Parts: sequence; structure tokens; C-alpha cells
Amino acid sequence: MARRPLVVGNWKMNGTRASAKALLADILAGLPTDARAEVGVCPPAVFIPEAAEALAGKPVLLGAQNVADQDEGAYTGEVSAPMLREFGCALAIVGHSERRLIYGESDKLIAARYGKAIAHGITPILCVGETLEQREQGSTFAVIDQQLGAVLEACGAASLRKAVIAYEPVWAIGTGRTATPEQAQEVHAYIRRQIAEREPEVAASLRILYGGSVKPDNAGALFGLPDVDGGLIGGASLDAKSFLSISLAA
Ligand code: PEP
Repeated sequence: MARRPLVVGNWKMNGTRASAKALLADILAGLPTDARAEVGVCPPAVFIPEAAEALAGKPVLLGAQNVADQDEGAYTGEVSAPMLREFGCALAIVGHSERRLIYGESDKLIAARYGKAIAHGITPILCVGETLEQREQGSTFAVIDQQLGAVLEACGAASLRKAVIAYEPVWAIGTGRTATPEQAQEVHAYIRRQIAEREPEVAASLRILYGGSVKPDNAGALFGLPDVDGGLIGGASLDAKSFLSISLAA
């Protein structure tokens, strides 16, 4: 089954109101109307309203970097899926390794965030991936099983019809160290097999993105792999030229 590639920029906690506006304008100006890949950006939450205005009617999806596990109430610091929907967010990253490792988000919490995104019509981009220590211990697949398992248990494999997975080896994020094409393909194929055992049709149409130091010069080799359907891009998404070049490689 043909899967349309997806390339999403994760701006993390970078930029100013002015630089965010300029970056979006440059992306919109440089993105060909017939680009093969779908393209999205996830600005910091405070920039979402202006980004929503800039992107209205344009072929770039708007996304959030996280989404609350509750709809409303006394949850200081959180932004809910209904709020994000009101500003036109189509995507929300959940379970990014920075959320898991720096802020201690559990598999259970991440599964709840994922469920809320789906319940409100936002496509969650579920990030999974092992640390260097876990890879060296030979537990990469066990880590993926656990991270994915929490979501499968809470929401079921059929929910992945409305989701995207991003395989992001932690040792490759922001380090300049990329997984080799063989390493990426091996884990992507593994993830697809786990879903196929439960929901073969969902597995066939599921987009699995690679993330971890994707740059213009390595994007083509990664995106050309059979089970890699685009990328989640951190550092290189802050530069319009790099991000566009990566998007066009998908
Ligand atoms: C990320 O944080 O999702 C990411 C892939 O970052 P980078 O591209 O900078 O490694």
C-alpha cells in the first residue's frame, strides 16, 4: 500500500515570535505545491495562534509538541486537545524522549495523551526509541515493546489508523549521530510487524517516521527505506532551507 510520506518539524523550545513568523513564511514560500510529502510544523505552544493564522488554507499542517491527558480542569501548565483543535492543530507529538527522560513522563501518561489526541481528531505522533545504553544491552526491541505496548493496551491497535509513529533512537537526537539505514529499517520493520500481528491493514497504512539528526545530506538514504515513511526533524527544522530540502527528499 502506498503511504504518503510525512515530514514534521519539531521546533522544541526555540525561537521568538518574529523568528517563528519568518521561518513559517520561508517554508510556505519554498514548498512546492506538488510536493510528494505531507509537511507539518510543531512550534512552541505560545506561537500556535499566530502560526494557525499564517497556515490557514496552506499546505502545511500545524502541530503541538505535546497534548494534555485531560480535557480541562486543574492541570497547571497543560494544553488540552480541544484547545489545540480550536487553533487548527492537526498533529500532536506525544512521548518525545525529552518528555520521557527530562520530565519523567510514564508510558501510561503518554498513552493517555495519545488517547486524548485521537478522541479529539488530532493525529498523535507517538515517539518511541531506546537510549544508547539500552541499545548496547541488546534491549532495543524490548523498549519498543514496552513503549508501544502501553498504547496498544490503552487504546488498541486499531487506534493507530489515526496515528503516526516516530522511531527516534535517543542516542541520535540532537547528537549529530544518525542511525544507519540498516539500523533504522530493522526497527521500523519490527514496529510494523508488531502492529501487523494485531491489525494487518492498519500496519500496512501506518506511517512510521524516523527521527534523530536527519539532515539534508542523510535524508534521502533514510527516507528511501521500505519502512521509513518520512521524518520527525528537530535541529534542521529551524532552518527553512534545510527543512525544505529534507521535505523534498521524502
Ligand atoms: C527530535 O527531537 O525529534 C529530533 C529528531 O531532533 P534532531 O533532529 O535535532 O536530532
